[in-house]
Amino acid sequence: MAVPFRRTSKTKKRMRRTHLKRNVGTLTTCPNCGATIQPHRACMACGFYKGEKVVEPRNKTKNAE
Ligand SMILES: [Zn+2]
Repeated sequence: MAVPFRRTSKTKKRMRRTHLKRNVGTLTTCPNCGATIQPHRACMACGFYKGEKVVEPRNKTKNAE
């Protein structure tokens, strides 16, 4: 079995891993409450989607109405 000739240095290892970060993806703001949300998903802060309340908010104490 082939074995690496040298141990990979900390710098080389870290340089390689700079590209391994996770992609956050596209984010938009909720038109109802202004929270940061993923597009085409109901807002978890206020429970609104397309101008209608479709789900109960996950955190009721934060956005009490
Ligand atoms: Zn919202």
